[in-house]
Amino acid sequence: MSVGDIYATDAQKLAVAAAEARRGAAEGGIPIGAALFAADGTLLGSGHNRRVQDDDAAMHAETNAFRNAGRQRSYRDTVMVTTLSPCWYCSGLVRQFGIGRVVVGDDQNFLGGQEWLAENGVEVSVLNDATLIGEMREFIAGHPVLWNEDIGEG
Ligand SMILES: [Zn+2]
Repeated sequence: MSVGDIYATDAQKLAVAAAEARRGAAEGGIPIGAALFAADGTLLGSGHNRRVQDDDAAMHAETNAFRNAGRQRSYRDTVMVTTLSPCWYCSGLVRQFGIGRVVVGDDQNFLGGQEWLAENGVEVSVLNDATLIGEMREFIAGHPVLWNEDIGEG
């Protein structure tokens, strides 16, 4: 997976975000991954939650992917793909920069601002990938304190 490669389908795009989530898990972090794509499926940037790794509560998966994508002239035609329903902070990022579409891998373990995004004209697609849901459920069960810290309920 590298920047510039084309990922045509939502499943292929989600696989990029899932690989980021697993990379985060391998680093001892919170396993949430994201990736930003151009309209034609070109990968612009990807990233994962780095709260633990960077001691930075603001480095969510979507934020990390967004920053790794660098400056874009317009975000209207871009697609933000995330393994877990975007929190309010990341939903705000989507609105702030006018990202046109969001693909969510799992809204079962956490439900963020995706409905608010949809109400405000963002195209939201929820895939609810069984493997991702299982992996996240396992992480939450094994790391309840870290999880509650990440969702702001610590
Ligand atoms: Zn977030």
